Parts: sequence; C-alpha cells; structure tokens
Amino acid sequence: MAEPTAGALPSVAFVGLGNMGFPMVSRLVSAGYDVHGFDVSPDAVERLEGIGASGAASAAAAAADAGVIILMLPNSAIVQSVVDDLLAADAVAGSVIVDMSSSEPLATRALAARLADFDIALVDAPVSGGVTGAVNGTLTIMVGGDDAAVEQVLPIVSELGKPVRTGSVGSGHAIKALNNLLSATHLWATSEAMETGVAFGLDPEVMLAVFNTSSGRSGSTQNKWPNFVLPGSYDSGFGLALMLKDMKIALGLADSTHAPHALSSRAVELWSTAAAELPPGADHTEVARWVAAMGSGERAGYAAPRPWGGADADA
Ligand code: NAD
Repeated sequence: MAEPTAGALPSVAFVGLGNMGFPMVSRLVSAGYDVHGFDVSPDAVERLEGIGASGAASAAAAAADAGVIILMLPNSAIVQSVVDDLLAADAVAGSVIVDMSSSEPLATRALAARLADFDIALVDAPVSGGVTGAVNGTLTIMVGGDDAAVEQVLPIVSELGKPVRTGSVGSGHAIKALNNLLSATHLWATSEAMETGVAFGLDPEVMLAVFNTSSGRSGSTQNKWPNFVLPGSYDSGFGLALMLKDMKIALGLADSTHAPHALSSRAVELWSTAAAELPPGADHTEVARWVAAMGSGERAGYAAPRPWGGADADA
C-alpha cells in the first residue's frame, strides 16, 4: 500500500459495482476520493470512467495502492473468494477491508480472525436504504469492528450515509439480516392486507394513507407499496434472491441461538416458494404480485394486471 501524504484522503478500492456499488462509488468520487473499482462485469468497470473513477483489471489491481478496500458483493462466499484473491496477490498489507455487502455474521467473524493473522482489520458495514439511499448518500450503515479500524474508515463510510456503531465485527451483518427478515415479512403481510382490502372494495391509496398514519405502517406501506407496487414498476433495484439470502441468514441466526422463529420460518418458506417460481433476477417487490396471484388462484399467471392498473403481464 502507498503511504498517504498527511491530510490527503486515502485511495479507496471498491469491489462490486452493481445496483448499490456503482452509486456509492459515485458519491465517494464527489467527496474527493480517488477510487479504483473492479467488478467481474466488464460493462460495470467501463462505466466508472463516466463518473471519474478508474477501472481495474482485478480486485488485486484495484487494491494495490488503496488504504481502504470496500466490498459490495452479493454474499459471503463471494466476499471470501475476493479476499482470497487479494491475499494471494499480497494486495492488502496494511489496509482495512470494509465489507458493506449483506454477509453472514458468523462467516464475517471467521474471516476477521483469518485476516488478523495477516495483520489486516475487517470492518462490517452493511447498509439499508436501497438504491435511492445509495444515490442520495442517505443509507443507514451498520458498523461492526474494532474501534481503531472503525475510526479509520468512518470518514469514508460517512460520505455514504449515517453510520450506526453496532458492536464487534459481525454485529453489523447480524442486524442487517434481522432488519431484512422484518422488512420481507412486512412486505408479505402488507401484500395480504392490501389484497384483502381491494377484494372487499377498498381503495388501495386510501388504505396506504390510513396505514401510514396508523400502527400498521412499515417500510412496505411507506415506500415499497406506494413506489414500486402500486405504479406497477417493480423496480426497486433489490433482487428477490438477495432478500431471500438475508432472510435465511437471519433464520440461521435464530436457529443457532435457539431464539423463537415460528413466524420467521414460515416467512422464509413462503418467500422460497415465490423465488423458485418467479423469473431469475426478479425484483423483491414482485412478491406482491405473487401474493395477489395466490389469492386469485392464478398462481401461474402471477403477472396478470392488477385492479389498480399495475404493469401488464408481459411488461
Ligand atoms: P448487484 O447484484 O446489483 O451487484 C453485485 C455486483 O457484484 C455485480 O455487479 C456483480 O457483477 C459483482 N460481482 C459478483 N461477483 C464478483 C466478484 N467475484 N468480483 C467482483 N465483482 C463481483 O447487487 P446489489 O443490489 O448492488 O447488492 C450488493 C450487496 O448489497 C448485496 O449483499 C445485497 O444484499 C446488499 N444490499 C442491496 C440493496 C439493494 O437495494 N439493492 C440494499 C441493501 C443491501
């Protein structure tokens, strides 16, 4: 790693330039950071030029001169394989790795212990707030890790949203998974309530207005239903497979800690059934259509237009 000059911002490597990673890089560049990005998708790397970041040919090349290496990848297995590549190329000595992906807390703890043998600190800093939060720098960032390493990366992650200190390494990933278990369960429950109301003759807009000033409100009533389900766009930018991954992480935590998980287990079962039958790459908000089709008995035709004028089946 190159020694940064006093007062200069550290160079940042960013691996994983998808729906979240790309706008996060854009914010770091706007804040004055020199960002070197890598993604297995060449298109994603190419797009970096347009926002003033440099593209690298590998994760190790991106990390070569970086004081801080940020990962925004689909899951723990991929995080570990990228870290393996970095270690093999000796590209991380003296750096801090920040895993902002929604990873498995136990795998994160194990990875931190492994990296400690190389004198490399790992901070977990998963986020909530979706693509909109990534674009606007308003993410909630759940930061776990040792104080010294966290202090080092706080100025950088603060450019992306509001950091909340969650405890030791792995704590951020645990809270993130539990948050998404709640979020997914709320979305399913909201969809059932909305279908029931519509079938009874209620106006969906009126239902949401009432829920949102009453005790039934949630991210699903305040954001997902009004912004992605009612308009029929189903384009929140958060894949259903990623949501199900997070739910399973949370369920695994409940199981391994012997915490109660009757409702969580059922929620994972329901989401798993939807994930198995919806097209690969479906947005997680598509479960609202899935729930609608369950009620009408048109499961195979889940994409049928909804009464409130949602997207056409073939759109
Ligand atoms: P995404 O699928 O859009 O992006 C992931 C990127 O990682 C892709 O561009 C992919 O090509 C790249 N990638 C995969 N393997 C790689 C490798 N070995 N090396 C380099 N790049 C690789 O996913 P996303 O929506 O950006 O989510 C990223 C992470 O953030 C996930 O863990 C997700 O659960 C979490 N998250 C997503 C959202 C959201 O709204 N999309 C919100 C909060 C958290």
